[in-house]
Amino acid sequence: MSLLQIESFAAGRWVKPGDGARPIENAVTGAPMAMAGNDALDVEAMLAHARAVGGPALRALTFHDRARMLKALAQALDARKQVLYDLSYATGATLADHKIDVDGGIGTLFVYASKGRREMPDAQVYIDGEVEQLSRRGTFLGRHICTPLQGAAVHINAFNFPVWGMLEKLAPTLLAGMPAIVKPATATCYVTEAAVRIMLEAEILPEGALQLVTGGLGDMLDCLDCQDVVGFTGSAATALKLRSAPHILRNSIRFVAEQDSLNASILGPDAAPGTPEFDLFVKEVHREMTTKAGQKCTAIRRILAPQAHVEAVIDAIGVRLAATVIGDPKAETTRMGALVSGAQKRDVLEKAAILEQEAERVYGDPEAFEVTGADAATGAFLPPMLFHCVDPDGASRIHDTEAFGPVSTVMGYRDLDHAIALVNRGQGSLVTSLITRDGAVARQVALGAGAYHGRIYINNRDSMGESTGHGSPLPHMVHGGPGRAGGGEELGGVRGVMHYMQRTAVQGSPDILTAIGGEWVPGAAEIAGPAHPFTRTYHELAIGETIHTGPRTVTLEDIEHFAAFTGDTFYAHMDDAAARRNPFFPGRVAHGYLLLSFAAGLFVEPNEGPVLANTGLDGLRFLKPVEAGDAIKVRLVVQKKTPRNEAYGEVRWQVTLTNQEGEAVAEYQLLTMNAFARA
Ligand code: NAP
Repeated sequence: MSLLQIESFAAGRWVKPGDGARPIENAVTGAPMAMAGNDALDVEAMLAHARAVGGPALRALTFHDRARMLKALAQALDARKQVLYDLSYATGATLADHKIDVDGGIGTLFVYASKGRREMPDAQVYIDGEVEQLSRRGTFLGRHICTPLQGAAVHINAFNFPVWGMLEKLAPTLLAGMPAIVKPATATCYVTEAAVRIMLEAEILPEGALQLVTGGLGDMLDCLDCQDVVGFTGSAATALKLRSAPHILRNSIRFVAEQDSLNASILGPDAAPGTPEFDLFVKEVHREMTTKAGQKCTAIRRILAPQAHVEAVIDAIGVRLAATVIGDPKAETTRMGALVSGAQKRDVLEKAAILEQEAERVYGDPEAFEVTGADAATGAFLPPMLFHCVDPDGASRIHDTEAFGPVSTVMGYRDLDHAIALVNRGQGSLVTSLITRDGAVARQVALGAGAYHGRIYINNRDSMGESTGHGSPLPHMVHGGPGRAGGGEELGGVRGVMHYMQRTAVQGSPDILTAIGGEWVPGAAEIAGPAHPFTRTYHELAIGETIHTGPRTVTLEDIEHFAAFTGDTFYAHMDDAAARRNPFFPGRVAHGYLLLSFAAGLFVEPNEGPVLANTGLDGLRFLKPVEAGDAIKVRLVVQKKTPRNEAYGEVRWQVTLTNQEGEAVAEYQLLTMNAFARA
């Protein structure tokens, strides 16, 4: 059978493997199946293409345009995901494994598409935080903005998730407005290549936004500059080599690393055998050992149980492992497929031998295990292997050896402080889980171990029905961890987008900051519109468009009427002497909510029009008491606009209530939904 020729996509054209191409084996049969790589790939031309063509095209779009692009990419991949499933079997993965990789990746694109629309502006500048007042009269202010880096994002990915690994980096990169050059691990790059073809054939992305290198990266990393980013996922050894290259260090090139990690799971002291928590713990550990044949960066490598329950834990995990069918990943009955390659299998066996110096193997014999529907002699199969270390304090290799396969070590702890000390000996991990129903236990672990772990996953009978599993990095939450785990922080919603943007402090007058951020800043010019703003459509309204209402005097009758009508007879509104005894009030004062209601009555335009609904208010502050006899006025300014769908968008209005002295008595931001067109 002829070998598949896995191509790269460079500067707008597909490039076949050439000199320097590497063979790729089928994980299940061990037979060569594909070739990838070409030493003649023009990496400088690829970078130039990304910087000169892809970057400007992406930066011309708004965050919302890019978010729509991500959604369309997700839909294109979803429609053709069977192609990716079919190819993925050769990586040794089962259908359940493909779903984590393929569907998980597509889901990540969808989440970023939605977060881009909901949490980012329909603009090219992302505003980070509030305006800072830098001068007494407010004519000189500061704020932070984020703009896309103007280079290329080079993504170097690990072999275990050829689709998710690409998409979890691609989503925040494209949303930021940066072009990407994706380099998957060679062992599984044929799946990534197929996914890239699907995305390119859908013709959603601008030219130059996405390129692909299959095989070696050549000297691309030596051609990067300060506007480029390297996003790396893989082993700590490769990360160290790449991130410490003199060119990377000399030019302060941003290097985001997600690397290996000695993740752990703790059985809480309360989760004794017989409790739902104990069963949950065993189920999660088993799943983490066998999913993707243990080739998951988040897999549980160290299992911590109270000393008294160690034996029960080993027995219960052993029962589940014994029922795990290993074999042909295509067979429906198979629960665990093959490792990715013979080389990976050898590596895992070498690491297992290191663990065996400090721990006894209590389950799984690599020399004697059953493989169903495939040849154990040629395929990269291994049984799950469970070790037990009786002296985890005296041991060291169990805390620093990552056997990237179905391998895990059980150890006992004396008390919770001991468990925390052991769990932290991993020197920084992606995730630690804790199975407990005791809030005090959870708090102690979160405080004692938090600094060493990117994520702490706590589960018990109350949350297990809906929990996502120890091993699932979710696009909403940061994925990464300190120390050995690489020090990276990917995903986490908009936080992940920031890896591909530069935060800049801009300082200037309110008008200047309004012009840059596209959001009205207090003190900036007010624009008098041609009509009441509530009669104007979303698109007609200008940022800074303002109305000032006439005054309304608040009377004692108003206060009493409001108190009787609402039932809010708080003493400060009813009893002058009591109000005077309160340090905040000069005497009886109007209800804050009365003022809000009067404000609405002052600024509203009653007729049916483009304002569809009042959806809430933010940042409400009552600044000064209002007494009977005071007259309030309102200023309403269009502060910010955000489209929500094809028919309407949200308008954020800055509202300020002042008294007859011109003093601000209340302020807030009013949110309304405004139609794009008149009915
Ligand atoms: P790896 O051997 O370190 O390779 C990672 C990537 O680096 C691959 O794309 C590899 O390409 C590339 N690479 C290696 N040497 C390079 C060089 N000199 N220049 C440019 N690129 C180079 O890791 P792996 O075996 O693929 O993945 C397994 C490891 O990844 C495990 O340790 C696992 O814990 C970790 N991992 C971490 C995460 C996370 O999110 N933290 C996720 C998944 C996996 P080639 O394949 O072409 O050599």
